[in-house]
Amino acid sequence: AKSLVLDRITHRFASGTMAVSDINLDVKGGEIIALLGPSGCGKTTLLRIIAGFIGQSEGRVIIGNNVVDALPPNRRAVGIVFQNYALFPHLSINENVGYGLAARGVGQAARNAEAQRLLDMVQLGQFGERLPRQLSGGQQQRVALARALAIKPSILLLDEPFAALDKNLRLDMQIEVKRLQRMAGITTLIVTHDQEEALSMADRVAVLSHGHLEQFGTPSEIYDQPQTLFVNTFVGTANKMKGVVLATDASNVRVGLEAGGEIIARAPKTVRASDEVTVCLRPEHLTFVSDGSGFAGEIGMALPLGATVVHEIKAKDGSSIKISQARTGGTPLREAGTPVRVAPLAPGLATVFPQ
Ligand code: ADP
Ligand code: MG
Repeated sequence: AKSLVLDRITHRFASGTMAVSDINLDVKGGEIIALLGPSGCGKTTLLRIIAGFIGQSEGRVIIGNNVVDALPPNRRAVGIVFQNYALFPHLSINENVGYGLAARGVGQAARNAEAQRLLDMVQLGQFGERLPRQLSGGQQQRVALARALAIKPSILLLDEPFAALDKNLRLDMQIEVKRLQRMAGITTLIVTHDQEEALSMADRVAVLSHGHLEQFGTPSEIYDQPQTLFVNTFVGTANKMKGVVLATDASNVRVGLEAGGEIIARAPKTVRASDEVTVCLRPEHLTFVSDGSGFAGEIGMALPLGATVVHEIKAKDGSSIKISQARTGGTPLREAGTPVRVAPLAPGLATVFPQ
């Protein structure tokens, strides 16, 4: 499987929009990478640059050991599944899957045989004669995938491939695509704005915001050691509190909260004593305490969510903080108005960022 390197990719549209800015990504052969970020952050633009539909303003795209910037899309060996599938409506499923092969001069018999093999693989072997509109959304999705794989791409690009599918079908397709990706050992980039999809499908996740790469790492690095406030709040959930740095040592800092009380937190970016900071606390990293640590508040809402229970804490600075606990053996719901103290389960589980 071929590697993919994006070397300082920047793209400015003619309108002046800076869609992506100085993106460096180093994807190993056979890896599956998720490009994760909110709508408009530049994900599709980046895919189109890799596929060759857009010529980037600056930087290089390297596939294997070759800089491919001078090659048109059909010579990059890149397969792409577009956001809306983009099947040809008047071509049969067979012809859709064989389209890229026809464009490369492969004869009809060989084309049909390959289309049949791929349709069997995505479990649509008996639907070759149908038209796209005679298939369900999930089936069309699988045809688009078969079509992308037909040209034996070195790199597979998937643009929000499951966004239009309902929740159960989406989970099935995620498992199916990951299985096919592993079987084929094909280097894959999947674009998504869904953090669970990114964390569950990808070997590594690239988080984008406003055209910038915020962080590139394994799902657990992204979730457990977010390097920016954006990553901490966009991936998973995080309570935010205001505070002031009281003291720092090697990697941890002691923070005085505006809500009263103190906590010890991890500081990925340099902060100094008396800096104003934002403290991020994940709901599942908080616990009720009786030793005077953490901060005080009172119970607001109690939400029994089945496997977990979430309590809202109204802190003294007016902020609303959520704490989530596994609900083993009937963890009791606490009554609104009950005074409580809350602290992180361990010092490194809170994170501070400069304001
Ligand atoms: P995403 O796929 O993450 O939602 P896009 O890559 O589609 O984001 O868009 C990134 C930014 O570039 C957005 O601000 C969008 O409006 C802008 N943009 C996308 N395509 C064009 C275009 N063809 N011309 C001008 N601006 C564009
Ligand atoms: Mg997009």
